[in-house]
Amino acid sequence: MSPNQIMSLFVLLGGACVGSFLNVCIYRLPAGLSIAYPPSACPQCRQPIRFFDNIPVLSYLLLRGRCRNCRAAIALRYPLVELITGLAALALFLRYGLTAATLVYFLFVAVLIVITFIDIDHQIIPDVLSLTGIPIFFLAGGWLAETVWTEALIGILAGGGSLLLVALGYRLITGKDGMGMGDVKLLAMIGALIGWRGVLFTLFFSSVSGTLVGLFLMVRSGGSLKTKLPFGPFLALGAIAYIFYGPELIDAYLGLTVSLR
Ligand SMILES: [Zn+2]
Repeated sequence: MSPNQIMSLFVLLGGACVGSFLNVCIYRLPAGLSIAYPPSACPQCRQPIRFFDNIPVLSYLLLRGRCRNCRAAIALRYPLVELITGLAALALFLRYGLTAATLVYFLFVAVLIVITFIDIDHQIIPDVLSLTGIPIFFLAGGWLAETVWTEALIGILAGGGSLLLVALGYRLITGKDGMGMGDVKLLAMIGALIGWRGVLFTLFFSSVSGTLVGLFLMVRSGGSLKTKLPFGPFLALGAIAYIFYGPELIDAYLGLTVSLR
């Protein structure tokens, strides 16, 4: 193996280990529990999980998805989050190399993964993630010098402001709450790192993908979709897409619209 391949494997495994911690955050943050203590236990029999049964993805496969003690099924969610986080770390490493950008973007993606699954489970986005993330990612972005600080500041205002307008407009027209304040704070956090261009991209991407998925679910359920689709996961996906391909996608899109004229 070349040094780069060894490094890639190390990054993949390290990312999966972080994913294991993200599972803890997804499960405990909405319940208001400490993410540091106590150590993970089987939700069924409360038996603490031993370190050799806590190896990301691998333990799930070796145990065939069951608790060693009580044989209760382990949710597929756990290895899935570990795998996604590991692959995200690897993808960032391959895109940005061994740099500070990789580190900051990985922290950003990790927070977005936690937000995504909490939003799917509970239809909430904890302020401890989104609001805390605004100053942290604003400073981190300035440190990276990937985004000019004025662009990041406009990103926070444009991100929060645009969805706040949507939320207020929706309530004015329908008299109901359609867009949650959690989404408002999340897009402000996204803007803090990737700036107002990133916010525009994220809004466009999440609206299109959210509409497509919403239509698909509506058709599949025979037009009787009652559950509200959380928007946070689509915002997260849009922001992650921007980190990897945003500038290229914007150029391609602008190139397309110019050539159509
Ligand atoms: Zn058990």
